[in-house]
Amino acid sequence: MPPPQACCALLAAAPRLAGRRRLLSSLLAPLATRLRSCKGGEEEAAGSGGVLRHLLLKLRATGPVTVAEYMREALTNPGQGYYTRRGGVGEDFITSPEISQIFGELIGIWYISEWMAMGKQNAFQLVELGPGTGTLTDDILRVFNQLASVLSKCDVSIHLVEVSPKLSAIQAEMLTGGKVQSNPENKSAYMKGISKTGIPIYWYRDIQDVPQGYSFYLAHEFLDALPIHKFQRTEKGWHEVLVDIDPEVPDQLRFVLSPSRTPATENFIQPEETRDHVEVCPEAGVLIQRLACRIEKDGGAALIADYGHDGTKTDTFRGFRNHKLHDVLKAPGTADLTADVDFSYLRKMAEGRTATLGPIRQREFLKNMGIELRLQVQQCLQVLLQNSRDSATHEQLLHSFDMLMNPKKMGDCFHFFALLPHHRVVRPTKNDNPQSKSPLPPVAGFGELSLK
Ligand code: SAH
Repeated sequence: MPPPQACCALLAAAPRLAGRRRLLSSLLAPLATRLRSCKGGEEEAAGSGGVLRHLLLKLRATGPVTVAEYMREALTNPGQGYYTRRGGVGEDFITSPEISQIFGELIGIWYISEWMAMGKQNAFQLVELGPGTGTLTDDILRVFNQLASVLSKCDVSIHLVEVSPKLSAIQAEMLTGGKVQSNPENKSAYMKGISKTGIPIYWYRDIQDVPQGYSFYLAHEFLDALPIHKFQRTEKGWHEVLVDIDPEVPDQLRFVLSPSRTPATENFIQPEETRDHVEVCPEAGVLIQRLACRIEKDGGAALIADYGHDGTKTDTFRGFRNHKLHDVLKAPGTADLTADVDFSYLRKMAEGRTATLGPIRQREFLKNMGIELRLQVQQCLQVLLQNSRDSATHEQLLHSFDMLMNPKKMGDCFHFFALLPHHRVVRPTKNDNPQSKSPLPPVAGFGELSLK
């Protein structure tokens, strides 16, 4: 069933696709779950040397560290971490918003749809965690601008949580043209600017610095970058996997098992666990609890998109470099380290405070959001393709659509998951007369998009 007319009009109102600037030829190559490339040569050696040297000193002084600690150092060490040190994320790896601007536009529509369904409050904060190059926020802001008449009475502000100084500078350039103020006096933010469309933008290092209030949260390919603990079941019970120096090879790292239970084994392994190898990301758990508390108290919603599973997978910790799998213990700081998100764990962390929806596959979510309305793929509903003048753009649109939607590419391995106030999905029963109430509108993406 096609979405209603109002929604078609809104989708059509979104700006035309000009072709993503940084669409790489690598997009056309077969895809691992994440497309990554890496700068080579001296820079790699410098990054690797820095983090590795630091870790070797630490390991010699205090013994093995948890995988979580290792991952934190490799990715976000303040001087040498992969995210901290590297600029130009668009060159190093590709994510859905970098592939097609339609992705971000549909997410922008999701937020407007939820804002409308929840009563069109007169102000909201859009909070993005780990914004990368800022492309996703840029696409969302363009939709907000296109639909300015819908949002005309709403005071919107953008709040970005980013630890990387390099990436925050790239985001500032992308979103404000570089016109930003560092350390604004009266704010917990470390940077502030105004978007090209006139919306205030603030930068923070931690979600806890973001002001409380009615907010919509977004985390796209963010949780997979947070540090995980790894556990192995043995004949003597659960042991934590640790990282240590390999005594056989100088300056090389290896995995070892903790000789006895660690605090993490006590806290994170569920008694009913049936797998033999388990990964837990407590930082993701704490983050979800924080978001759930905020949504319960102030309203709003959170949309989380990432690759992951529902508590079924075991060993998913991996590194990516040059579009290839990379040994996670080699040259820390020069490769992306990542692990699948366990959505069942996130659901547990939100329990009692908010309702959760998903995980739903990316291709289903985007289809529900009306992606096919924007591309002439199966239907004759042309929104974009009829406007594309040349065949190269036409080809590129089809390729980016295929990348996002093809089950063998990003369509099946990426999932969407949402936190919403209970009243958004279940009507309160107290003094409730079902006959006098209209049904709750479905949550877009998880059901058909319907905007009233
Ligand atoms: N959301 C973007 C980028 C994903 S890469 C996209 O989909 O294209 C992960 C992002 O999270 C980067 O911006 C990285 O710098 C940021 N990041 C990683 N760990 C972080 C942490 N602990 N706190 C805040 N930001 C972090």
